[in-house]
This record gives sequence, structure tokens and C-alpha cells, in this order.
Amino acid sequence: MWRFLSSLFNRKQNPSEGAPITTISEGNERSKTNMKNIVLFGPPGAGKGTQAEILKQKYQLVHISTGDVFRYNIKNATELGTLAKSYMDKGHLVPDTVTIDMLKAEVEKNPQANGFIFDGFPRTAAQAEALSHLMDDMNSQINAMVALEVDDEILVGRLLERGKVSGRADDANEAVIRERIAEYYRKTDILKEYYQNQNKYHGVDGVGSIEDITERLSKVIDKL
Ligand code: AMP
Repeated sequence: MWRFLSSLFNRKQNPSEGAPITTISEGNERSKTNMKNIVLFGPPGAGKGTQAEILKQKYQLVHISTGDVFRYNIKNATELGTLAKSYMDKGHLVPDTVTIDMLKAEVEKNPQANGFIFDGFPRTAAQAEALSHLMDDMNSQINAMVALEVDDEILVGRLLERGKVSGRADDANEAVIRERIAEYYRKTDILKEYYQNQNKYHGVDGVGSIEDITERLSKVIDKL
């Protein structure tokens, strides 16, 4: 099974930055305790991707979007892409085993990172546990979950608008959009409590201009 799964992860290393391939053990040579690791949270359409792009520059963090990695694999017709597409097209989550292994591989490609912005991960309790163990293994931790809070009907409207230009199949169909939001409430929303119990949850109003929302997020991140 593991051999099968690892054979799925044959995507190009770090397509946006072209970073060399390194292993996590090299990164462990220096302390990871001063890393800033942020989970950017919120339902589909909350603006996580937009804000992550800005925050990664501002704070010099590595941005990992599991949705982007799946889409990269779909575009390149990998086995992982074919598997992921069968779930994504229905608005369902890709199974934990596949997603967790993929996330680990993405983190391990960046051993020199100052920290990470996780966008779209974790989305289930099992993923949150796996992320916690991964951080432990790196002598690091998740510092905060910063959540963009947006009403459901605003989300549907935003995603339908995005669907006109994004080319994303899962944005083009209102039934799929609503299923993604339902999946969020079924499996993901509980993570708010998971991080609240660790005093790491910070909710931010996700409605307003992009600049205003970045400022709200920055106020939280600056204090970490
Ligand atoms: P996103 O780009 O974050 O909206 O994700 C698009 C789709 O990719 C989701 O609807 C899921 O099907 C899949 N996906 C992304 N991240 C995850 C994850 N952490 N766990 C399971 N499925 C995911």
C-alpha cells in the first residue's frame, strides 16, 4: 500500500520556486523551535489562497496549498491527480492517507523554511493529528490557526463568481459548491475546537477588502 501511495507522489519539486530536493533530516541540523507555522483556515471561498499568497511574501513563509498540489497533479495527469479528481469533482475530500502523505512530502521538500502557511490542510481530525506529529518530529509546532470567517451565502456567491474565471470544475457547479461547504461542516469545522482547546484559534472577519483582511490577519500573526 505504502509503495503504491508513494508512487503517486511523483510531482515536480516545488513548481513555483524550483527548489532543490532535500530531505528533512538535513533541515533538522538547525533548531526548528523558532519557526512560525500557521494554519490558514476557513470554508471554501473564504479567501485562504488569496491571503496566503500575500502573507507568504510578507512573513517569508513557505505556502503549502493541498488543493493546489492536487490541481497540479490533475494538470499533469499523474496517478495521484486521477485519484484526487474523482473526489474533487464531487466536492468531497480526498482520503486522509493520500492527503497526509502528500503533505508530509511537501513539507520535507523545504527543510530550510522559516515556517509554513498551511492552506486547506488540515481538513479532518486525522489530518490535524498527523500535522501535530509532523511538527513534533521537526522539534516545531503549529503556532496558530487563523480562521477567515464568512457567511455561507457569501461563500456560494464568491465561488460562483470565481468559477467564471478560475477554470476550476468544482467552482462551476452550484451543487458541487454546496457539497464542498457541507463537507466542511461535516469534517472540517470541528478543527476550530481542536485548536481552541490548545489556545491557538484566532477568528478573523473574512469580509471586506483584500487589504483590510490582510491587516486583520497580520495583527494576529505579528503577535505570535
Ligand atoms: P481547495 O483548493 O482547498 O478548495 O481544495 C479543492 C479540493 O481539493 C477540495 O474540495 C478537496 O476535494 C481537495 N482537498 C484539498 N485539500 C484537502 C485536504 N486537506 N483533505 C482532503 N481533500 C483536500
